[in-house]
Amino acid sequence: MSRGNLIVISAPSGTGKTTVCRELVKRMEGLVLSTSYTTRPKKEGERDGIDYFFVSPERFDEMASKGEFLEWAEIYGWKYGTSRKVVEEKISRGVDVLLEIDVQGGRIVKEKFPDAVLIALFPPGRETLIQRLLKRGRDRSDEIEKRVAVARRELEVLLEYDYYIINENLDETISKAILIIEAQRQRVACRREELEKIVSQFGGDK
Ligand code: 5GP
Repeated sequence: MSRGNLIVISAPSGTGKTTVCRELVKRMEGLVLSTSYTTRPKKEGERDGIDYFFVSPERFDEMASKGEFLEWAEIYGWKYGTSRKVVEEKISRGVDVLLEIDVQGGRIVKEKFPDAVLIALFPPGRETLIQRLLKRGRDRSDEIEKRVAVARRELEVLLEYDYYIINENLDETISKAILIIEAQRQRVACRREELEKIVSQFGGDK
């Protein structure tokens, strides 16, 4: 059986990546979203084990020291990490795994798995991002300024990614992301075993 693909989606806060990722796993068969571990406190409406696994800083550090994370990063003072075991188990069963992680994590994943597909979600512009953050109402105004400053640095790193989508319209963004993932699934490198079987049916003569 062919191994599953690793797909990373990163975007500055407020670009809509959580919505995009949730829709993608709903609409695409054989694609699952990895649930990260974090030390940040649970926000209203979030569920442990679904949005994140919420763990203490001590537990997180212990997991990190045992090599249990495929990648981890510190963001706004909190730590976030992807479970190595869960990802490897899914990929070995041929399931594609979607990682909704920040740009530091994206870089590490690409170093460890050069075949991973990195998708950058861009906001249409600075004003739109500010408006979306204000509308979301989760952050105070000084927080928003901080997020916009971080967004600038993140957008520069996102230029290293493989694909980009400007998130102007949710349906269009999802359609484009589906096309990118489907294209990845059709790569010869991802289906070599299957293709070699067909080739072998034609015997050894040239
Ligand atoms: P939030 O606290 O708003 O849920 O997430 C903050 C940032 O952490 C987002 O950019 C999100 O993509 C990122 N993030 C969530 N889980 C992980 C993870 O496991 N690893 C890394 N590197 N970033 C993550």
